[in-house]
Formats: sequence, structure tokens, C-alpha cells
Amino acid sequence: MTTIRRRLTLWYTVALAVTVLAFGTALYIERRQSGIKELDQRLSLEADLAHRWLTESYKVLGRIVTTSGSKPALDPGISAYLESVRDYLVVTDTAGQVLALSEVTRTLSADALERLTAPLDTTSFERHTGTLALGPPGGAVRFLAVPVQGAGPTIGGILVATPTRQAALGPADLLRSMLLIAPVILVGAGLVGYWLAGTSLRPVQGIMDEVEAISDGRSLHRRLAVPLSGDEMARLAVTVNGMLARLEQSFGSLRRFTADASHELKTPLMVLRAGVERALVHPGIPPELLQSLDESLAQINQMTEMVESLLTLARADEGRAPLAVQECDLRALVADVAETAGMLGESVGVAESHTLPDVPVRLAVDPHRIREMLLNIVTNAIKYTPRGGTVAISLEEDEAAVTFTVRDTGVGIAPGDLPHIFERFWRADPARSRTGDRPGVGLGLAITKWIVEAHGGAITVQSRPGRGSVFTVRLPKAIAHSLPNATPRVT
Ligand code: ADP
Repeated sequence: MTTIRRRLTLWYTVALAVTVLAFGTALYIERRQSGIKELDQRLSLEADLAHRWLTESYKVLGRIVTTSGSKPALDPGISAYLESVRDYLVVTDTAGQVLALSEVTRTLSADALERLTAPLDTTSFERHTGTLALGPPGGAVRFLAVPVQGAGPTIGGILVATPTRQAALGPADLLRSMLLIAPVILVGAGLVGYWLAGTSLRPVQGIMDEVEAISDGRSLHRRLAVPLSGDEMARLAVTVNGMLARLEQSFGSLRRFTADASHELKTPLMVLRAGVERALVHPGIPPELLQSLDESLAQINQMTEMVESLLTLARADEGRAPLAVQECDLRALVADVAETAGMLGESVGVAESHTLPDVPVRLAVDPHRIREMLLNIVTNAIKYTPRGGTVAISLEEDEAAVTFTVRDTGVGIAPGDLPHIFERFWRADPARSRTGDRPGVGLGLAITKWIVEAHGGAITVQSRPGRGSVFTVRLPKAIAHSLPNATPRVT
């Protein structure tokens, strides 16, 4: 969700940046062109004024070019007016010789002046504009060259010019302002975009949270609230609700099937076991049959255990495994389990030890389930501990909770297996933990977890392969007083 939000904000900001850039460039070009246009208009006005000044003067005086010096020049009285023009101005004769210059034009180097008069340096030319590079310090100039008629035979043309820098000043200011403002606009728009994306995606976040809470397996009966807006979110909620209904139905059928099948298998298994047990004690049974019967009995026992575990879990899934809660001293319970563990351990060479508090540890629990839970953990500890190892059981109490700990020095559990050991039918890779030779169906820890959670507690495990494992069950006192009905997770 966060990534979609960030991605949306990023794309939005990039799109805005591109738009601002394109807009800025277009504005800059447009401003520059209209600046050049304004320059051309100014040059045209100046050239026309100069042209009229020359023709009017000629009409009045009859002769406006003097040849008193070495070179011909415009009459000083007439050129005085032209000198005062703000821009570059050149008047040439028909041979391209300079007759008069404005004051600023005089500041130009000879080289620059030569380049400036070049557009007039043709015998016949038409009124035309253009851009010329004069070199530093003037830079590029915009010029207008105008042929002069009606001012006597000597006068050839007028050229007025002005640096294009003037046309660029406005757009340059604009560009500078835009470069200053654009980051502020982009940051502001980014923040607004981030907020907008968050607001639009919030309903999706809400739906995700709800689906997460529902899909833990316990709450498949719950449905999402369908927004009245009738928009995409409403459609999404309706679709998810449809999917949840189908899931609920499938899970229900699965649970019912497991419960029914387990239930139906119980009686034939009992009959089978009774038959095999009777056959085993029958006098005169051939010894070669004894071993087969023994093996059959072991298999029947394991199957009965599995069927019972499945039935327990199926009932728990359906919420039909209520706890028979009563207050009891947990020390007696642990001592009882420790005694069984002692006997089991003795037969396989595993030493058992236990530590109990001196004072009674009273808690409202279902004693049969808690005993079952502890036995599961302890028998596993003995099962997965090689001869010569130890299994230590302890019971502790603090203000908030009661804690059972079962510590073994057995084969341990690989870190990659740890997240799976509470899953149904999950058993470690036999090659790694050597469980292949140990009977079991992989349901014991699933039931253990259900019992702990049904009591409002939590089970944790720490393990190091080859060193052993520690299973810790913590039952909070507060929740134990108001125990809920058994509702396990589907794992
Ligand atoms: P199983 O019937 O196989 O013992 P469980 O559900 O009781 O089924 O345990 C699941 C798996 O967890 C076991 O197969 C075993 O690999 C692993 N496991 C449980 N307890 C221990 C332990 N004390 N030491 C090592 N591995 C264990």
C-alpha cells in the first residue's frame, strides 16, 4: 500500500514537473519572440524617423552631404539629430561608405562597425531585418536595413540595430523566477499528492485490514461492510464477501468431513484392536504370526491416536470442544506428567527432572486438556532426545501468568523448520532430525497449540540443532478466569 502511495505521488510529481517545464519553455520562447517583435517595431520606427528626417532635410536644403573633409559626410546640422538616437544607427552612401553614425555606434570597434554596415554594403538592397553577431562586448544585434530614396543621389541607406540582449531580459527574469518558484510548487504538489493518494487508498487499507482479521481462519463467518458509495470499493467488498462465503462453505465441508470420517473410523478401529489383542493372547498361536499381530497392533494404536487427534481438532474448529474449566493446583498436574515422563524416559535412557514451586499454583483451567498439552510436549522431548540426554520440566508463577517450561538436550529443530512445527501433519525432514524411526503423525503440537490458545495463552519454542529445545507455555491469569470456548486457528 505504502509503495502504491509513493509510486502514485512520484508519478504525479514527475508529471507535474514535466508540465511545469514544458509550460515554462513555451512561455520563455513566446516571450522571447514577442521581445524580438517589439525590438523590430522599435527599429522600424527609428529607421522611418531617420528616413523622413533625411528626405525632409533634402527637400528643404537641396544638399545634405558635404565633401569638405577627406571623405564625404552628412551635413553636421542634420547628423546632429541622428547622433542622438539611442541605438546603433549608420547612414551610408550608395557605395556603402559611412556618412553618419549615432553616438553609441561610434563606441564600436572598426571590426564590429564593418560587420554592422555589411547589410548596407550592396548597391541595390531591399528593406530587411536580421540578426548579426558583433562580438564582445555588444554581442548579437537585431538590425533593420532600409534603402533611402528621395534624399538626393548620394544617400544609399540607413541601418538601425540594437542588442538582442534587450529582448531576452524579460524572458530571463521570467526563467529565473520560474526556477525559484518551481521547486516550491513541486514540493507542495508532492505533499498534496501524497495526502490525496493516502486518502484515496485508505478504503483499500481498511478492506485489507478487515480481510487480514477475517482470514486468520477463525472468523470466516464475518463479512466486510459494503460502502454505500457504489464505487470500485463497494464492488471490491462485494467480491471479497463472495469469496469469503465460498471459503467458509469449503472449510465447513472439510471440517464436517474430517469430524464425520474420524468419528466413523473410531468404532471399527476399536473392534479391530480388540480382535488383534484377543488373537495375541490366544494360546497356541504360531510365533511367526505373533510378530505380524504385534506390528498390526502398533499400527492400529497409531491410527486410533491420529483419528482421535483429528476428531479433537475438527471439533475445536467447529467450536464444539468446550473446555471443562475448574480451579486446580497445577503442581499436582505437572508432577503427574513428570512421573509419566520419568517412566517413559527410563525405558529409553533419558533422565527426567522437574522443579515445582513450594506453594500451590492455583488456576482455573481444563485439567485434562492441560495434562494432554504437557504430555505432548514432554513425550516429544523424550522422543527426540537420544539416550543419555535429559528432559527438565519446570513450573513457575509470577503476578501475571503461569509458565511451564520443558527443556531437552535432544536433536533440536532446524531454524527453517521452527515456523512449521505447529502446523497439522507437519513432521521434520526425517533425514535431518532422525524422526523417521520415531512414530508420530504430526498432530501433537497442533493440538498443543490449540489447547494453549484456548486458554488464552501462548506457546514459544527456542531450539538449536544438536543442542536441544526449550518449549515455553505461558498462561495469563487474567484471561484464564474468563476462558472462551475453544476456537483454534486453522493452520
Ligand atoms: P510428531 O507426532 O511428529 O511428534 P508433533 O506435532 O508433536 O508431531 O511435532 C511436530 C514435529 O516437531 C516433529 O515431527 C518433530 O520434528 C518436531 N519436534 C517437536 N518437538 C520436538 C523436540 N522436543 N525436539 C525436536 N524436534 C521436535
